[in-house]
Amino acid sequence: MDSLWDFPDFDDHEFVHFVTDPASGLKALICVHSTHLGPGAGGVRFWHYAKAGDAVADALRLSRGMSYKNAMAELPLGGAKAVILADASRTKTPAMLAAYGRAVEGLGGRYVTAEDVGMAVGDMVAIARETRYVAGLPVEAGTVGGDPGPHTSHGVFLGIRAAVRRALGKDSLAGLHIAIQGAGSVGGGVARLAARDGARITIADVDSARAQLVAGDVDGRAIGADQILAVEADLLSPCALGAILDEHSIAALQVPIVAGGANNQLATAADGDRIHQRGILYAPDYVINAGGIINVSTEFLRDGDENLVRRRIEGIPGRLDKIWDESVSTGRNAAAVADDMARRLIGRA
Ligand code: NAD
Repeated sequence: MDSLWDFPDFDDHEFVHFVTDPASGLKALICVHSTHLGPGAGGVRFWHYAKAGDAVADALRLSRGMSYKNAMAELPLGGAKAVILADASRTKTPAMLAAYGRAVEGLGGRYVTAEDVGMAVGDMVAIARETRYVAGLPVEAGTVGGDPGPHTSHGVFLGIRAAVRRALGKDSLAGLHIAIQGAGSVGGGVARLAARDGARITIADVDSARAQLVAGDVDGRAIGADQILAVEADLLSPCALGAILDEHSIAALQVPIVAGGANNQLATAADGDRIHQRGILYAPDYVINAGGIINVSTEFLRDGDENLVRRRIEGIPGRLDKIWDESVSTGRNAAAVADDMARRLIGRA
């Protein structure tokens, strides 16, 4: 590969900011894909990548996803994402977070950061000592904020119900078997909401203790992380990392629906067709998982209260239905339909 411009995931990103702070050991990337609709907004991921190039590819792909997600959620925000390259032991220090905060501040508001995998509310508090351009901060009485995870889980749950209504003709999850990959903030929340609606839960996590904890809470079953994608169930909800739906895993799926919170579930665009050709109803990830960014947006822009956040999240099933309707009428796969809708909204049709 000759340059950044040759990365397959490079999509005319407005800018990619490399951050190195030798004093703290911080290495990070801030990718702003589009500011067409507003400042680039998206979380920061703290992750150990085998190769630095994997981090670049991840940030490029995730930031484009944020442009699509924010546009489809009708938010006045562009799309961006940051990654902090963790060492193998995932050491995260206050000095590192401070250096990251200074880097965000230095972009003058063109990027607004928040939590993603590996980052928590406390980390946002540390970052906020150095920058104004941060959301996902603790909730003060009467204000919107805090961990976006529960809002994401709520939106995913509503999207799951919409998918079940469409594919299985049922108005609740009562008696259905839901398989969940990832027992973290989003997956754990989806498990609890689905169980409360009457679903039977099978859950897996590479951290098996996490899966067992959630399974115990919802009276469900924890299984090995290598088994979850091929479980026979009514719905698979991927809530861990991306690129898990590829030629092999799609061929092995034993579910009529895939609807989950993880970003970038499809390994390649061709996998959108593969899942469609198998007759599986797929909920485009960035549409169903917009609950967190809806909360973050409302917190950062201060343009609404908790009730408005809830109403905005309740718009997710309608957006999915619109995509699925167009998929049926055009014969195109749901992921491609959603991408086209999003690209029109960000002026890149
Ligand atoms: P998290 O770190 O709380 O949980 C992720 C979990 O996935 C962890 O427990 C991890 O051990 C597990 N995991 C990783 N690889 C796995 C594998 N191969 N098999 C099984 N489990 C595996 O993160 P989260 O906030 O719950 O986010 C989960 C996904 O949802 C990510 O893709 C994230 O980008 C996406 N997402 C999160 C939010 C949010 O508000 N937190 C919003 C939108 C999208």
